[in-house]
Amino acid sequence: MHQRDTSVEVLTQAIVRYAVDRVRMEPPLDGPRTQAELQAMAGSTISEHGLGALEALRVFGDVLAPACISSDHPRFLSFVPAAPTEASVLFDLVVGASSIYGGSWLEGGGAVFAENQALRWIADLAGMPAAAGGVFVTGGTAGNLSALIVARHRWRTKAGGRFDRTRGLIVSSKGAHSSIALACRAMDADEVAVASDAEGRLHVENLRDAIAAMAPDDRERIFAIVATGGTTNAGVVDDLAAAADIAAELGVWFHVDGAYGGAGLAAPSVRDKFRGIERADSFIVDPHKWLFAPYDCCALLYSDPTEAKVAHTQHAEYLDVLHTDGEHGAGEWNPSDYAHHLSRRARGLPFWFSLAAYGTAAYREAVETTLRVAHEGARLIAAAPHLELVIEPELSVVLFRRRGWGQADYQAWSDRLLAEQVAFVVPTSWAGEPVLRICVVNPRTTLDDIRLLIDSLQ
Ligand SMILES: *Cc1c(COP(=O)(O)O)cnc(C)c1O
Repeated sequence: MHQRDTSVEVLTQAIVRYAVDRVRMEPPLDGPRTQAELQAMAGSTISEHGLGALEALRVFGDVLAPACISSDHPRFLSFVPAAPTEASVLFDLVVGASSIYGGSWLEGGGAVFAENQALRWIADLAGMPAAAGGVFVTGGTAGNLSALIVARHRWRTKAGGRFDRTRGLIVSSKGAHSSIALACRAMDADEVAVASDAEGRLHVENLRDAIAAMAPDDRERIFAIVATGGTTNAGVVDDLAAAADIAAELGVWFHVDGAYGGAGLAAPSVRDKFRGIERADSFIVDPHKWLFAPYDCCALLYSDPTEAKVAHTQHAEYLDVLHTDGEHGAGEWNPSDYAHHLSRRARGLPFWFSLAAYGTAAYREAVETTLRVAHEGARLIAAAPHLELVIEPELSVVLFRRRGWGQADYQAWSDRLLAEQVAFVVPTSWAGEPVLRICVVNPRTTLDDIRLLIDSLQ
């Protein structure tokens, strides 16, 4: 395309310099602007003859980027932050430049090979069988839906047509992520979310009781048990072995949602909490959360990918060539066949590159570092007279309360911290009570950052 005012040289320098500077600096927190403010500042950016690349980049750098909160800031501790490595972010530029179609082996075999080695590392951490495999999808929401579609497929296949017009049912717990409910809506399935224990874990007796109390017709509709390997709100790990037992007794699919917490598998200090995960039929973890990869990246793994392939493969005249064994291994491993998608960016590559470059020990240490900061931070919070832990942290989420404060106090404090560019910490709720929550996934977050928060809550 004709560049209005910019040579390729100048454009390259400007873009690469911007990206490298952004990776290197401690980013400002920044913060949201209203639609009206952005309209006033950026104006109308789409025009017949274009702004020119340098002007468009200026608008991004001066107006648009500052209206996005930097989720890799060490005191961005809300939701689940991001902490992509330099290697992963810079390699993302290469992935974009390489125009790789990541859906088929025929077109993207080299990329798929590398992605699959990264997936294998995760499968080995989880203790999944040698035949396990899967694909990188956009996020936990897409991963959960794709896995549960395969679960339903197995249930219907096993019933030999008896349930083809029957609504399926998923049994989960109240601690399960909202994307499980969304998957049920998308699949027109029912979700029974049983009450959790006092710390938000799947309550095994409640699960057994809920299933036992079901009418036989409903029990037959169960096609998956979903457990969470690190709940998003509290960071606690369900009893995966017990959930696996119950799924096995019912003869149904066992799915483990580790979108946030699955990274804990890499950390010897918490690995034990995941016992039973090796029995999962499917498992997801988001490298864009706690495995230091840029958005958007979720590793979706199946213990037996052949079932996933039957459930997800799209058939069309123009696609058949991808599934016939050809000279270059067409039909070898087509990532498109393992989730609810077709065209895909090779979004596992930035994660693969970083893992290949730094080695798995660096990942182990980085996850351990965040765990240490979260746990030592929790000790400081417990020791502060004005604060109180809500539960003992298990992974890297810390829930706590400021004595005497309510929702309005928390929100005012949160707003002030962001306005002053100190930190981004939003309140959550626990058993109906507004509380504070921090989630540490960034190895650059230090104990001093936590101290600063504690002092600001005086
Ligand atoms: C974040 C999260 C999800 C959703 O993942 P996205 O990547 O945001 O779609 C699902 N499950 C759990 C447990 C999560 O923490």
